[in-house]
Amino acid sequence: MTSIAVFPGTFDPYTNGHHDIVLKGLRMFDEVIIAVGVNALKTTMFPLEKRLEWIQNVYADEPRVRVKHYEGLTIRFCEKMGAGFILRGLRTVGDFEYEKQIALVNSDQNPDVQSVFVLSEQKYTAVSSTVIRDLIRNGGAYQQYLPKAVSVHEERF
Ligand code: ADP
Repeated sequence: MTSIAVFPGTFDPYTNGHHDIVLKGLRMFDEVIIAVGVNALKTTMFPLEKRLEWIQNVYADEPRVRVKHYEGLTIRFCEKMGAGFILRGLRTVGDFEYEKQIALVNSDQNPDVQSVFVLSEQKYTAVSSTVIRDLIRNGGAYQQYLPKAVSVHEERF
């Protein structure tokens, strides 16, 4: 049976830290679905279409990665995709506390979907989409934290 993991997030924008987690996921699972969660109540810096396009470009040569978006509960999306795993990255103890809570609730919702946590490489622990958005807004150097295909410099803010 094909093992499928969903890697859910907002990816506003997609970073080298996210990419690292997906590469590690590909060593564990047959397929990784990068799932961009759409939350009507949350405003993002980059439109959904752009975030999807950039991520698709990062994995243009990787047939084991699919890029999708979804609304509503992550666990329902996993069921729809036939995914048995939720992949998440951990940078800090803070990430762990937050992720643990979500994973326990997800497991109540559907115990057949297992959350799997992957530690961030040391060099990516300081990388977050929030910090990168701040750098972008304020003219800082941010390109080093993003995969080449994530061409945010072509966007207008
Ligand atoms: P969310 O809106 O769910 O926080 P994000 O796009 O910020 O979504 O992150 C998605 C996933 O990627 C989360 O599991 C998060 O912990 C992980 N992640 C984000 N940045 C990094 C990083 N630098 N290294 C490892 N994992 C990361």
